[in-house]
Order: sequence, then structure tokens, then C-alpha cells
Amino acid sequence: MPYLIQQRFKVFMKKYVVGVDVGGTNIKLGLVHPRGVVIARSHFPTKPFSSSKKKLIGVLAHEIEKIITSQGLKDKDIAGVGVGVPGLVDFDKGVVRFLPNIPGWKNVPLKAILEKKLKLPVYVDNDVKLITLAEWKFGAGCGVKNLICLTLGTGVGSGLILDNRLYRGSANAAGELGHMPLNEKGPACNCGGFGCFEKYVGNQSLFALADQVMKKSDMTTQKMFALANAGNLKALQFWREAATHMGNGLVGVVNLLNPQLIVIGGGVSNNEKYLFPTIKEVIKKRSMSLQGSMVKIKRAKFGDDAGIIGAQVLVDNA
Ligand SMILES: [Zn+2]
Repeated sequence: MPYLIQQRFKVFMKKYVVGVDVGGTNIKLGLVHPRGVVIARSHFPTKPFSSSKKKLIGVLAHEIEKIITSQGLKDKDIAGVGVGVPGLVDFDKGVVRFLPNIPGWKNVPLKAILEKKLKLPVYVDNDVKLITLAEWKFGAGCGVKNLICLTLGTGVGSGLILDNRLYRGSANAAGELGHMPLNEKGPACNCGGFGCFEKYVGNQSLFALADQVMKKSDMTTQKMFALANAGNLKALQFWREAATHMGNGLVGVVNLLNPQLIVIGGGVSNNEKYLFPTIKEVIKKRSMSLQGSMVKIKRAKFGDDAGIIGAQVLVDNA
């Protein structure tokens, strides 16, 4: 069938995707329309089941079936299931190589196990890659040919869209921007490296910087946001310093990949008004002039739904 007719046929058929976002705390599910709209959601906590892989996968399969029937749909209405996990995945084989935050997950053939249980096509990928796909296809980076999607949180991750394709690297492990060294003599990181980007802009480092600036021991980025809104000069200085680290980390990426757009998501990106102007200023000042002058910075469009919506793109592109 010619490609265009095939695409129209797909939309006409209105085949839905079940998106699954596996996190260390919760597992979120969503039923996603072909145009990226989530029509039903559910979730369950990870911890009660994380002692046994078999138990966790069993509950997951049950919840997937439940969300399909909850909308009066049958298996024939479902194009497939997309699962995002926080770790290393062999995408071609559908094997979860390693999940740092869920114990015991090493070399789990999740695709094969779920396909056997569900009798539906299943695709498994790294969660940040799914977030990147969602922002590129339906979100802040819609229609952009080259973009970087940066996720800021406890960990710092990224996904790369290069020449209109998700760039995976040799082992589907490309995009670890959080572990790009900014300082060869910097603090040691869990990855084995030193002075990684994450050690400057990950949540723990931002909290430590906030404590240091405010001379307290219980500061958070939310508190620093409130203080900055009240005009506190130290809090404003904190945001300037945090954003300078972010901008510096992105300068190398802008020079290397020449993206049109950097999409920034994750909790800290809520503080856009204190972060983005400085990030832009640092990139403009320190990047090579052509690359630095053309790159735009935008906040991610999707919050908690990003991984689920990305699952739709993953299944659709498979
Ligand atoms: Zn590292």
C-alpha cells in the first residue's frame, strides 16, 4: 500500500496505543489516540511489586488489559503497547538491560514476556527517548528537524532528534547529556566520571547550592522560586548561577550538533522565568556564533503525560 494511503488508513482505523511509563515510585498507563491525545489514564505504585519481576509484570499486563476494556475497546482496536523504562534498553530485542532504581532488573526480555501474555505488539524503550518523541511529534518541538530534549530532575537526561529521526547511538544509549563532563577535576559522579553536568544541575546539587547560598540546610528549588518571586537577591543570584551551569553544559551540545531547538522539561523547568533568559544569554555568548545565534530554547509542553504520549509515537513509527 502506498505510504500516504497507509498513513490515512491508520488514522481512519483509529487504532489506539497503550502507553506505559515505568518509574521507581509509580507506573502510569494511558490509552492514547493516534493524534497523541490521552483518553484514559491509570496508575499503580511500583514498590509493593518491585521485589518480584514476575509479580510486577503480571500486574502490569493485567492493568494494560483493564485500561483497554475500560473504554469498551477490544484488542483489534489497539495498534500496540509502548513501554518506557528508566534505564538501559536493547530496543531491537525489547530487552531491559538494567534499571538503576528498580532492583533486580537485569537482561529482562520484557517485550517477549508481555507479547506472550497480551497477544499484542509490544515495544520497549528508554523513558527519556519516549519523552523526546512526544515533544517532537506533538509538543514544543513539533515539526523541528533537529532538536535536543533535556529533562532536569534528580537525574539529568536527554534525547536527540537529528535529521528528523530519534538518534539512538550504537547501543541505544546515546543522549546521556547528564554525564557529559564539564570539569575534569569536578566532583565524582555515580557513573564513574568526574564533574558531570548532572553534578551541577541535578536536583541534589541544586538543593546543596541553595543551602550554601541561603546559609541554611533545608532549601529546595520550590522555596528558592518563592523567595525569588518575593525579590530576595540571594535567591535571584542562586537562579542565575544554576542557569549559568545549565547554559555552559549546553554550549558544547549546540556547537557539536547545531540544533534548531532545545526543549527543557522536568520539575525545575517550572522556574522558566528565572532560568531561560540566563541560559539563552550564556549560549549566545559562549557558543560559536552561527550555532549559538540560531538555537531556540522552549519549555516542554507535556508534563506527566510525556512518556505515555511518546509511546504512541514509538508504536506508530515501528
Ligand atoms: Zn556522571
